[in-house]
This record gives sequence, structure tokens and C-alpha cells, in this order.
Amino acid sequence: MNAAEPAWYHETLYPELGQRFRIDKVIFEEKSEFQHVVIFENAVLGRVLALDGVIQVTQRDEFVYHEMMTHVPLISHQNPQDILIIGGGDGGILREVLRHPVRRAVMVEIDPTVVDMCAKYMPSISAGAFDNKKGEVIFADGCRYVKENKDKFDVIIVDSTDPQGPGEVLFTEEFYRDCAAALNPGGIMVTQNGVPFFQADELKSSIANFRKLFQYGSCYVATIPTYYGGFMAMGWAAKDGTTGTITQTRRNAWQALGLTTQYYNLDVHQGAFALPEFIRGIVV
Ligand code: SAM
Repeated sequence: MNAAEPAWYHETLYPELGQRFRIDKVIFEEKSEFQHVVIFENAVLGRVLALDGVIQVTQRDEFVYHEMMTHVPLISHQNPQDILIIGGGDGGILREVLRHPVRRAVMVEIDPTVVDMCAKYMPSISAGAFDNKKGEVIFADGCRYVKENKDKFDVIIVDSTDPQGPGEVLFTEEFYRDCAAALNPGGIMVTQNGVPFFQADELKSSIANFRKLFQYGSCYVATIPTYYGGFMAMGWAAKDGTTGTITQTRRNAWQALGLTTQYYNLDVHQGAFALPEFIRGIVV
């Protein structure tokens, strides 16, 4: 390769199209027991984690996804105390959850390599969350954990990869059924549910399962610059029919928390459930 030409990371989520990121420096690369793990540096995005050819998190835009996957369910729930995170190896969700006055946050991640390397090479994402006494990291398959574990939770956040490789089981009816069983009354589950413009079938299937297993199922949206294809859908499944509308009590709770954010606020929360017609057509 000509020395002047930079190296590029080509995302391979879709065979027909994709995006590329200039690799300014490879920080870590290894085939773990579960997936191909790479962390590289890019002048615009900072450090980037990719798993099995798919961009997972970048230092530049991680706040959008981690704030919206966390504060929306935790402000919609009347009293979120026990939180379960499935996946979430970079620690961003755990970081945001532990900013709330929860009792505990259990993170069940299948791949220790992701946790160890993100903690070492992208520490700004977890920002010390892995050392927080209220947090607990368990290395296991999330699908198996919810089936076998008897603990109950108020909110489950499924921060998974896409439905390929180890993440595939986290998009099944069996997994969603076991999550429903692991939730207390009033419990809420949110899921990483892809980019509806390109991954409509995945979203349709998840929400059909939510409606079979929970009193209410839908999704909300946010736009994460490095998740190619526009809006990203976050699946929403509520045991007792909670719709994501914020009560005054929870508005007051959010104000009292006084958390600084870069994306989430109460108006963005409410607006995220206003779905464009093409996404309404998928979830109808
Ligand atoms: N924000 C990213 C996104 O929207 O695609 C997800 C980031 S996070 C790195 C995804 C995590 O899910 C990875 O650490 C991966 O190892 C984990 N994971 C995949 N399948 C899993 C399973 N069956 N059980 C637990 N964790 C799993």
C-alpha cells in the first residue's frame, strides 16, 4: 500500500452499502472468544470501537445513544431502583444509569475483552462506572442470565450488538419472554433496535414480540451520527402499559437530579416518541 494512502475501516453491516472511517491509529485488535474486536483512532471521532465489522461506539457521539437509552426509561419509570443492562461492554449505559439514585445496576456482558479493552483504551466512556460499588459486571450470555437468574428488575436496558453472532439471541421471543418475567410490576425494557430505514424487519419483529409479551410495545427514536441510515429505533416494552409520557412527579425528579447532558432533556424525551410515518408503518 502506498505510504501516503491512509487505511480505512469499512463497516460491513450491509452488503449493498456502508460507510468508512479513516484509521489514524489502530489501538487494539483481536479475535476474542466471541467476536472480532477493534479499537482505532480517527481524527474526527476520537477512539472508535467496532465489533465484527460494525461500529459500536465512538468517543465523539456516544452521548446521544447512552443518554437516550438510559434517561428515557429511568425517567418514565416511577421508581427505578434495580437496573439490568444486557451487553453494554463499553460501560456507557452503566455510567449513565449510575448517575441516577438507583439501588444497583447489574451489567451482563458476554465478552470480557470488550469490557477490559474499553476500560483501558476508551475510559471516558465508562468514566469510572466499573469501579462504582452500586454497579456489578457479570460475564455471561444475557439470554441465559435472564432465563436462569431469579432476581427482579425495574428497568432492563438491552444494549446489544446487531442480531448477528452473539447478539442474535437477544432478538428472540424466548429472550424477551424471560426479560418480561425478570421485570417487577411497572417494569420497562428498552432495546437497541437498529436503524429502521435499513433494518425494518428487525424492528417489526421485536415490537410484535413486545406486544405479545408486554401490555405495551412501541419504540422511540434518536439520531446517532455514526449509526448509518438516519433515525435509530429504541424498542420500548412496558409491563403495565407505561407509554413513555413523563409524569409531573418524574419531571420534578429529573429537575432535582440536575444532571448535565448533551442530548437528553424532557422535551427531547417526549418528542422521541413522535414517530415519522414510515416508522409508524413498521410498528403499527
Ligand atoms: N451501542 C451499540 C449499538 O447500538 O450497537 C452497542 C454497544 S455494546 C459494545 C454491545 C455489546 O453487546 C458488546 O459488548 C457485545 O459483546 C455484547 N453482547 C452481544 N451479544 C451478547 C449476549 N448474548 N449477551 C451479553 N452481551 C452480549
